[in-house]
Amino acid sequence: MRALIIIISLIIIEMNLTQVDKYASVRNKMVDTQIRDRGVTDPDVLRAMRKVPRHLFVPEEYIDDAYGDYPLPISQGQTISQPYIVAFMTEAAGPSKNKKALEIGTGSGYQAAILAETTGTVYSIEIIPELAAEATSTLKKLGYENITVRAGDGYNGWPEHAPFDIILVTAAADKIPEPLIDQLAEGGRLVIPVGRQGATQELKLLTKKRGKVETERLIYVRFVPFKRSGEINDK
Ligand code: SAH
Repeated sequence: MRALIIIISLIIIEMNLTQVDKYASVRNKMVDTQIRDRGVTDPDVLRAMRKVPRHLFVPEEYIDDAYGDYPLPISQGQTISQPYIVAFMTEAAGPSKNKKALEIGTGSGYQAAILAETTGTVYSIEIIPELAAEATSTLKKLGYENITVRAGDGYNGWPEHAPFDIILVTAAADKIPEPLIDQLAEGGRLVIPVGRQGATQELKLLTKKRGKVETERLIYVRFVPFKRSGEINDK
């Protein structure tokens, strides 16, 4: 009887592993063709993108599209960014295990997971409470203990945990929020899409060096709008 139970358990474990493997191979292909071949070289970023199960961050009806070369809808009219953009932004932020990161726009929690794999501690703010709750539960299920998500307007950053080595904004703002620049550590990097809603925006990298901020223009992107509290119902 006991032997039978062991055999059945092994079969179940094996079935689960096959399930994981099915996605591991598409995920590796995604990294090779969409990310590495387009010039992302940071080994920690590539490793994180190969590891994090993106299909668990998308709504069930899009699971088969989770590793496609495009953004996907999540709930509340928001989107999870294209895998390449997530990798590109993470690399631009210059992650390492001794760094503390702040993300504005948790959404599905996928970018937060990639940051958690490549930095030490991650704080993430999401303006839509339902999304903050969903992402918290997804990240908890996956066992991430170095990510703290809170619901709220990220415009003012998170002063209690500042300064941050990395600030990554995943919604497009007309102007760069001043408090975020203030909360950048010396040597810190802020990556943010800047531009009008519905148009193409420019991804910018701000670096703080001896208290001065240098700005670099990176690539053109398209993000959902950065909103202020009070605006979250007019999608
Ligand atoms: N990084 C996400 C993508 C999120 S899309 C992911 O990996 O899935 C951008 C998110 O920013 C949306 O969920 C939107 O609700 C949120 N957002 C917009 N303005 C915000 C603000 N002022 N503060 C915090 N979150 C904001």
